[in-house]
Amino acid sequence: MNAYRYATDDTIAAIATAIGMGGIGIVRLSGPDALPILRQLFRPQRSFTPRTLTYGHIVDPTSGRVVDEVLAVWMPAPRTYTCQDVVEIDAHGGPAPLRHILDLCVQLGARPAGPGEFTLRAFLNGRIDLAQAEAVADLVEAKTQAGLRMAVDQLAGQLSHQVRQVRERLLGILAWLEASIDFDEIPPYDIQDDLTSCLIQIDKLLAGANRGVIYRHGVRAAIVGRPNVGKSSLLNALLRVERAIVAPQPGTTRDTLEEMLNLNGIPLILVDTAGIRRETSDHIEGLGIARSRRALAQADMAILVVDGNAPLEAGDHEIATLIGDKPALVVINKTDLPLITCADELLPNAPHLQVSALTGEGLSELEQAIEKTIWAGQVIASDAPLTGNTRHQNALRRAHMHIQHALDTYRQALPLDMLSIDVRAAINTLGEITGETADEALLETIFSRFCVGK
Ligand code: GDP
Repeated sequence: MNAYRYATDDTIAAIATAIGMGGIGIVRLSGPDALPILRQLFRPQRSFTPRTLTYGHIVDPTSGRVVDEVLAVWMPAPRTYTCQDVVEIDAHGGPAPLRHILDLCVQLGARPAGPGEFTLRAFLNGRIDLAQAEAVADLVEAKTQAGLRMAVDQLAGQLSHQVRQVRERLLGILAWLEASIDFDEIPPYDIQDDLTSCLIQIDKLLAGANRGVIYRHGVRAAIVGRPNVGKSSLLNALLRVERAIVAPQPGTTRDTLEEMLNLNGIPLILVDTAGIRRETSDHIEGLGIARSRRALAQADMAILVVDGNAPLEAGDHEIATLIGDKPALVVINKTDLPLITCADELLPNAPHLQVSALTGEGLSELEQAIEKTIWAGQVIASDAPLTGNTRHQNALRRAHMHIQHALDTYRQALPLDMLSIDVRAAINTLGEITGETADEALLETIFSRFCVGK
């Protein structure tokens, strides 16, 4: 991110809609020259008033040629998305007219906006806080209705409000601590209760952040097992569509396949892997095995599929060992055929479920078991980007640690200034969530995730 991105006194422009063909596309401008630039480009049919969508034409000021037939609106500061003058031009949604209009805006003095720069301005101008800015990105990226609802709540400031409550409480404690250090006649007060209730509030926020990570980023489950046990069939049965190639030869699934399933609002990413076997002469299958190991390493949980109609083999045990202590489920497949093994000895601590990928029997119980495993708490979305809820989780955990530390110091009757160090650290850490204490590096990480025009 360039330093000038933090300057908010110039005018930025961007195509705010997705690139490609569309019914309409929007070019957006924000900054002091937004209206002067529009005036030079736009030939309105009627008189042009603020906050009113006006019909007219965009005309190239040098050639005098009409570029597009548009609707344009000018929204004067400060009651706009960025708190600045904002102009939006609704043009025809093809890349050519939009590009042309954007180029004209740039020729007339606007600067092409960087990713998320409109939202960055909203944040820098104090209209929204950092958690709300992140919610904008979450909202755009939401994969399920549940994820969308959480983003909308966060945008409305729910998380920020709760974080601020704890932070203000801690500020009160800090004020008392500092006064007690400096003056003798401050009335004594037992800060233990207050610190403890801050801890409880943070625990609640942490539980919410964990749910947020799951709902927004999803959970990645690797379907593993020997060749031919029915992994692809199970994936298809769960997705209820034919996508993976089902063939009666071992190792036909040479690459891994990924599909997303909406499991009661949780985006469940199912990764179908090639049969994991250690010894293989087939080079391509070997590649598949390497991918399977990788998929397992990246997955938050494993679904180990076993053929219930065949005796257990060394391969089943090997794969179970590869899973290690990752949250897992054992699926005994092909129960429409006579049951030969219940695989009790495989991952004895994991739930065992009997299904038939062929008939669909046991699938809804399997879905329930997956959901239960996810909410049991050990499933941490390992590859979730370090933004949004993962970032909040991180900050909340650090704040929790500092408060716990402060409590220990208090109980040991150590000097008050030692206590105030931790309380201050907790306050700063909580401020990172809402942005009061966010530095440029953090802002850069957060806003680089946005698309241009947002
Ligand atoms: P993968 O190699 O583990 O992905 O196994 P596939 O999904 O390709 O299935 C291997 C074979 O087992 C195919 O012939 C499937 O039709 C068959 N199969 C899979 N699931 C079941 C099941 O539940 N019952 C029966 N009878 N056959 C199944």
